Amino acid sequence: MATVTLDTLRKEFDNGRVVAVEGLDLDIEDGEFVTVVGPSGCGKTTTLRMIAGLERPTSGTIRIGGEDVTDIGARQRDVAMVFQNYALYPHKTVFQNMEFGLRMSTDLGKGERREKVEWAAEMMGIENLLEDKPDELSGGQKQRVALGRAIVREPEVFLFDEPLSNLDAKLRTTMRTEIQRLQNELDITAVYVTHDQEEAMTMCDRLVILKDGELQQVGAPKDTYDHPENEFVGGFIGSPSMNFLDVAAEDDGTRITLTDGEGVSYQLSPEYSAALREASTSDQFRLGIRPEDVYTTDTGGTQTTVDVIEPVGSDNYLYLDLRPDFIARVDADVEPSPGDTVRITFDESKIRLFERETGDAVD
Ligand code: ATP
Repeated sequence: MATVTLDTLRKEFDNGRVVAVEGLDLDIEDGEFVTVVGPSGCGKTTTLRMIAGLERPTSGTIRIGGEDVTDIGARQRDVAMVFQNYALYPHKTVFQNMEFGLRMSTDLGKGERREKVEWAAEMMGIENLLEDKPDELSGGQKQRVALGRAIVREPEVFLFDEPLSNLDAKLRTTMRTEIQRLQNELDITAVYVTHDQEEAMTMCDRLVILKDGELQQVGAPKDTYDHPENEFVGGFIGSPSMNFLDVAAEDDGTRITLTDGEGVSYQLSPEYSAALREASTSDQFRLGIRPEDVYTTDTGGTQTTVDVIEPVGSDNYLYLDLRPDFIARVDADVEPSPGDTVRITFDESKIRLFERETGDAVD
């Protein structure tokens, strides 16, 4: 059983001047694929390195398969890590690179080691590269070797630190599928760090979203997209980003109207109004609405001007004068010209409201 459990994990650097990870609690199930995302410097790599045993936590505990490994060195942990820069030994052949970990951490004989390397090479489709040196390989081939080297030891936990960042877009997509296939076939527990939105959304069972070393939300990608628990998650997950408007709530006793003081006036249904009264005592919110949920209308809604129209094939992105970077993602046949006036609106079921003061979602 390769569950990974982090309990109030904390990591300080520079005598506490930098807190890279703060009070992180996380339960990763056996065989689960978890992706860690967040802005640069939020503590993704530090978290991964602590799980690998390459970095010692300042406090808190790490359990792998139920066993407390907090004070156990990297070599004694049943984990393998795959890095962005492949970390291959340049003077060793592919075979020797893949065999090296087995030599160091097992007492398998030569024949058994060869068998395992050949098995892993076959899994990765690199049987014909075994006698090559890393500098004779392409980026994609090097990453296959790095993956092969990781699986050869058959670890229970795989840790990936932005493994595809050095590859071109097409190869990244291929390798993404490859990693998912491996994870399924080998039934390993995987923790995957990336800053690539698409990679994060497509590859995992659950997303872990960090900011400033602190956990923001854990959930299935679609849940975090549809129900961000705070404004940061709403803005971070999804591209183009969620639109935000600062609004005040005016209650006439039956219905609440949200206004931004600059032309947006959105009347909620009595049911939604009642739910909002129940959920929050505040009258100041940030209204979040995703670009694909903003649509144009002939009557009603809010009048605004189109600044820029950006065709992306299936859809057009309209950059609206409502706010900087306020985007409506509309069908490709909706083609206003820059400078044109349009009316936009959205369904109340698509709105996310966040408390202005705390950024927490109102549920
Ligand atoms: P990126 O996406 O840019 O790789 P990250 O989310 O992986 O960022 P970390 O590398 O974990 O972030 O860094 C978290 C914080 O800890 C940052 O402020 C970083 O500067 C700091 N940090 C990381 N390693 C060290 C170190 N060895 N010494 C001092 N500070 C460090």
